[in-house]
Amino acid sequence: MKVMKFGGTSVGSAQRMKEVARLVCNGEKNLVVLSAMSGTTNQLVEISDYLYKKNAIGALEIVNKMEANYYKVIDELYTKEEFKQLGRETVKKHFDYIRTFANEIFTVFEEKIILAQGELMSTAMFNYYLQEQGVKSVLIPALEILKTDKNGEPDTFFIQNELEKWLTDTADAELWITQGYICRNFYGEIDNLQRGGSDYTASLLGAAGKMEEIQIWTDIDGIHNNDPRFVENTKPIPSLHFDEAAELAYFGAKILHPTCILPAKLANIPVRLLDTMIPDAPGTIILNECRPHKIEAVAAKDNITAIKIKSGRMLLAYGFLRKVFEIFESYQTSIDMITTSEVGVSVTIDNAKHLDEIVNDLKKFGTVTVDGDMSIICVVGDMNYENIGFQDKVVSALKDISIRMISYGGSNYNISFLIKSDDKQKALVALSKSLF
Ligand code: ADP
Ligand code: ASP
Ligand code: MG
Repeated sequence: MKVMKFGGTSVGSAQRMKEVARLVCNGEKNLVVLSAMSGTTNQLVEISDYLYKKNAIGALEIVNKMEANYYKVIDELYTKEEFKQLGRETVKKHFDYIRTFANEIFTVFEEKIILAQGELMSTAMFNYYLQEQGVKSVLIPALEILKTDKNGEPDTFFIQNELEKWLTDTADAELWITQGYICRNFYGEIDNLQRGGSDYTASLLGAAGKMEEIQIWTDIDGIHNNDPRFVENTKPIPSLHFDEAAELAYFGAKILHPTCILPAKLANIPVRLLDTMIPDAPGTIILNECRPHKIEAVAAKDNITAIKIKSGRMLLAYGFLRKVFEIFESYQTSIDMITTSEVGVSVTIDNAKHLDEIVNDLKKFGTVTVDGDMSIICVVGDMNYENIGFQDKVVSALKDISIRMISYGGSNYNISFLIKSDDKQKALVALSKSLF
């Protein structure tokens, strides 16, 4: 059994849903994970923003517009009147439910309920479509099988048990469908796995069910060697090590949600990235092995802030770094990159919510400088230190760009550079030219 996850663009219209149906009806009994139709979650976020601001009219305008679009999709999706009716009723039920929040006190709990409606609708619509085609599909409610624990981490024991129960109880199904992204938290409330989290759902379910493969179907033919949104002529990478893929995902390759790597890696289940539009393209396979001596890809992550603490006297003393890190920890701010010298330490953060407090506390230990609007450029590949010469290639590609930090040696798979965001595109293009 495989998990086949389809992202928003892959189910973004009636036509796309029909193509996904063709792909999943391949004679295998697989588990299909769907995102919300493209644009939906963004619109649900916008509705919630209006409701936080007590602007019910603003929210309802979007609800009405969305609902009208959904009815159009339904009209195109089904052939039989009976299914059009079912589709319309389902969608209406969800939008009416969203409307009930217009006059309520609006908190993060209500927001999470609203954000869950996109996946609930796309999967219901898709499941009806399969049934209209005569496929014996079963819709497994993600809200009954995906749960997080007290720390917000997936409750793997629960997930495994509940998935197994569902699959056994409905063993005569030809295909299973479930929602990506949504779950329940420790308190039983509706919650989610963060934006883009459907990839995580796929990987958690793949690991829980000890499946043969986790397939992430999207709108591009695999992980490319550079960000196709900023660089021309990028190419798909045939295979990557889990650690390489994790570095790329954490450092900006939007195609894969960073959290989705670990469950698959630990369970040693290959992750395959595939293109819904070109289903025969080989895509990218992620495994526990890497292609020796290859520099595979480049990615960039924006909105990075660099913080330097300079303190000649204290840095030499043991315990100094611990004190510095404790400050970040106390504001629940994680550090991405770090470089040290005898007189100072620089770190980067991507969440500047508590920047002022952090800087204030750090001043106890030394002179603090902050640089905002920075980007991390991450180069990924087999970079074991015994492979000679790759650093030179990478660094010389960036010869015309001012570099604020360089980090190498943390893993065998990555060199990272911190540069000004204004230079990002230039850096990505230069690296592509010189490396690929
Ligand atoms: P989905 O909705 O299917 O989850 P996403 O939009 O999350 O799809 O991810 C696919 C997009 O990721 C691509 O359309 C592409 O623009 C972007 N992307 C960014 N970096 C890369 C990369 N290195 N390789 C491939 N796609 C990338
Ligand atoms: N629909 C959610 C989002 O847009 C989850 C996902 O697509 O992975 O973030
Ligand atoms: Mg995605």
